[in-house]
Amino acid sequence: LSLHLQAKMSRPVQARRLEGVDQNIWVEFVKLAATYATVNLGQGFPDFPPPAFLREAFVRAVSGENHMLHQYTRAFGHPPLVKILAEFFGKLLGQELDPLNNVMVTVGAYQALFCCFQALVDKGDEVIIIEPFFDCYEPMVKMAGGTPVFVPLRPKVPGAGKPMSSADWQLDPAELASKFGERTKALVLNSPNNPLGKVFGRGELQLIAELCVKHDVLCISDEVYEWLVYDGKEHIRIASLPGMWERTISISSAGKTFSATGWKVGWTVGPSRLLQHLRTVHQNSIYHCATAAQEAVAMGFRWELERRGQADSYFTQLARELQGKRDRLMRSLEAVGMTPIVPEGTYFLVADVSAFASDVPEAPGSDEPFDSRFAKWMVKNKGLAAIPLSAFYSGPHKNDYGRFIRFCFAKEEATLEAANDILQKWKQEKAAP
Ligand code: PMP
Repeated sequence: LSLHLQAKMSRPVQARRLEGVDQNIWVEFVKLAATYATVNLGQGFPDFPPPAFLREAFVRAVSGENHMLHQYTRAFGHPPLVKILAEFFGKLLGQELDPLNNVMVTVGAYQALFCCFQALVDKGDEVIIIEPFFDCYEPMVKMAGGTPVFVPLRPKVPGAGKPMSSADWQLDPAELASKFGERTKALVLNSPNNPLGKVFGRGELQLIAELCVKHDVLCISDEVYEWLVYDGKEHIRIASLPGMWERTISISSAGKTFSATGWKVGWTVGPSRLLQHLRTVHQNSIYHCATAAQEAVAMGFRWELERRGQADSYFTQLARELQGKRDRLMRSLEAVGMTPIVPEGTYFLVADVSAFASDVPEAPGSDEPFDSRFAKWMVKNKGLAAIPLSAFYSGPHKNDYGRFIRFCFAKEEATLEAANDILQKWKQEKAAP
């Protein structure tokens, strides 16, 4: 027998936990955008730089005297960073936070989520996910052996003459309550919500909190867009509600907070009783996050802490700027006949594209939702990339609201101008006989 034949593998190589989670819609849409897009409003990150004070902090970290910033630091978070995060979030949550026990730094919010599911979800556990949802929650729950249980935000018809807002998408209290049961281990909350931009109100959060307390359920609260909130709306942290601190892990990241998604610095805040299990996952997988990036983010928070509530606060400025970009993109989309849902937060905007039903070729025999076919048609024919809302729904629910697409408006003026040019030209073509 030749060595060649012996070397061939015939046994299955894939671990069972990967079954059913290997499909990823982003691969397809990223490729389509790379091939056809002149303007890409699909990708969910800024095309503008982080603020100068943050970039300068990174430069100081890598070129300064302290060469130890090139080496490992504390596994669960660089000491200056966990210290300032404890101070910053302690104030917001009304808790005295111990930097060494109540904060853990992660490789972006993504790894924070992964640690939560791996550490807290067991085989047979159910995890409630509110649809539409940031798409990684579902495979992460499944990889941990858990079962996702979905509950939708249901759109209400807005008041006469009012545009639809993300606030019009609400949970049905009875429907939500019906999802809680003996096997429910955790609920994932994402406010402000990607993709809708919904900022959950106090009443809605209280409802969720009461159910979590009643059924002794954990809350994994993904708050990466916490500073991107518009029109004077307030972001409320569910961990600050009665009975919630001890059962909530709050997650955020420098990616959205400081417009530096590529640095991949994120964190979790919560009681040590919960975080200790995240630390176990962290030290047996990633172990450690980049020291210099953590140092720079610590400096960024120091800078911001000194300016809270003042005109030069970065968080205040960023939200104001993004609100202007949001309004501008809404006007451009309306001009061509799309109906935007006004987002209260995040840098995403979802628009109803049902008016274009006759422009997109039918796909007989396919169960691909209309929004997905529309997004592909739009990038191929108009050069404008966006993501179908159905990407943020679980398999059986992908057709429930399959008439919307998501745009990201965290873009330079020139990018938004180029998008507007495409939309204006499209409008003229439509008007032409
Ligand atoms: N949660 C949500 C809701 C997000 O939109 C994202 C990024 N798109 C993340 C988490 C991941 O954040 P990070 O880049 O910090 O890993």
